[in-house]
Amino acid sequence: MEEMTVSERRLLVRFFQIGSIMALVGSIHILTLLMPWYVVRADTVSATVLSGYLLPETLALSSIGGVLAGIALLVTSFSSKPSVVRLILSSLAIGGGVVGLLSPVYLNFVLIPSLNVVGEPEPGFFISFFSAVVIVALGILALVTRPQKVEIPYPGYYGMGEQETAGQPVETTSFETVDAVDDGLICPICYTTVTSENAVRCTSCGVVFHSGCLETYVNINGTCPNCGRAAV
Ligand SMILES: [Zn+2]
Ligand SMILES: [Zn+2]
Repeated sequence: MEEMTVSERRLLVRFFQIGSIMALVGSIHILTLLMPWYVVRADTVSATVLSGYLLPETLALSSIGGVLAGIALLVTSFSSKPSVVRLILSSLAIGGGVVGLLSPVYLNFVLIPSLNVVGEPEPGFFISFFSAVVIVALGILALVTRPQKVEIPYPGYYGMGEQETAGQPVETTSFETVDAVDDGLICPICYTTVTSENAVRCTSCGVVFHSGCLETYVNINGTCPNCGRAAV
């Protein structure tokens, strides 16, 4: 393992990772609308199950909150300046998370007490609540993610930055499948092990990624996550 300064590009990859998790949690937050949020009893006999989507307020708040968190991933490609991406990512996440959080909070503390019924929260309520908290936390994480000295645990991460030459025309690269990879090779996008079945290599910088991770990154950013050359 070696120590090196996180470059701007590395920071953008990190924001892309945070944005990906945000989009996933945002989807979970929206999907909780389909789950039971509350069981209410007007008397001792009959019980009514309230799913999130049945109430206009929770439907609207959770949808807006989840979508804001989801589009945060897409807007990470709007700029190649880490400071701009940090601002967009964290504002969308914190804004979306707070709006999403209002949804279960409104239900539990405003709507249910006003209905004069007895009720208990159901799993959808809790998952909605905690997914919104996670979205806010990811926004704060994006806000405090700064370039810093870190240990780079990439056994397969060689040649990094060597080909970067300032002031030259944009160079392109392509990606090829790999027949064999070293044991324990780590994908620099998701930090899990790459095997030969799902490995692709950048023909310019030689760094190996999961084919799925790379495809998602290239679809959004159009470049190699390591060397930044335009993917063709
Ligand atoms: Zn990966
Ligand atoms: Zn590359």
